[in-house]
Amino acid sequence: MQIDKRSNKFSRRTLIAAAGGGAIAAGLSSNLLIPSRTIAAAPVSGEKISADKALKLLMEGNQRYSSYKLLHPRQDEKRLIEVAKGQNPFAIILTCADSRVCPEIIFDQGLGDLFVVRVAGNVVNDMILGSIEYAAGHLGALLIMVLGHERCGAVAAAVEGAQVPAHISSLVKAIQPAVETIKGKAGDSLDNAIRANVQMVVAQMKTSEPLAGMVKTKNLQIVGGRYDLDKGAVEIIT
Ligand SMILES: [Zn+2]
Repeated sequence: MQIDKRSNKFSRRTLIAAAGGGAIAAGLSSNLLIPSRTIAAAPVSGEKISADKALKLLMEGNQRYSSYKLLHPRQDEKRLIEVAKGQNPFAIILTCADSRVCPEIIFDQGLGDLFVVRVAGNVVNDMILGSIEYAAGHLGALLIMVLGHERCGAVAAAVEGAQVPAHISSLVKAIQPAVETIKGKAGDSLDNAIRANVQMVVAQMKTSEPLAGMVKTKNLQIVGGRYDLDKGAVEIIT
């Protein structure tokens, strides 16, 4: 079965397959071998947005947000109907679960624009990498931004070496290698660690397949940023 993975035809087929229970065609997406029945929202055809353009769109949106000139684009009924047929996000954002760091708001974007993965401390594990690989490999987004933020509680816990209960320790453990790299450095240890953690996660992605291959062959870009809670501004740090 030939599948144009960015066509509405594929989207429709996928939706039909998803609704069809056991009678599923064994359609596979070409590059990640994801059975089509598992894809709840297929990509739609649309303008392929380069990583450079995607970063420009994000930073322009953040400029609007931080200067209180929000446009709230693509959040109306028309957009709702449009993206119900499929999705074509132009950027992937991995950021903290902190309630103050909401990508669609701080980048002034709309429904279906951003593929967002959030976890305290914006770290990665296999499941998070899987989500990002899906968005990059199947939905076609060409920019990944790892976004840390000022006064991140998860990073603070790692810096302080705090004894934390239950599963919170797995977050601290994931951040700890970044904390090790900033020991003895001048400046604010928490902010140094926040930046080092973003840089570590970007490096982890750049050496993780298949993302590493996509960086080389598909012009995928992976950047790191820091969100300023006081000013609302995002700064690119790597
Ligand atoms: Zn945080």
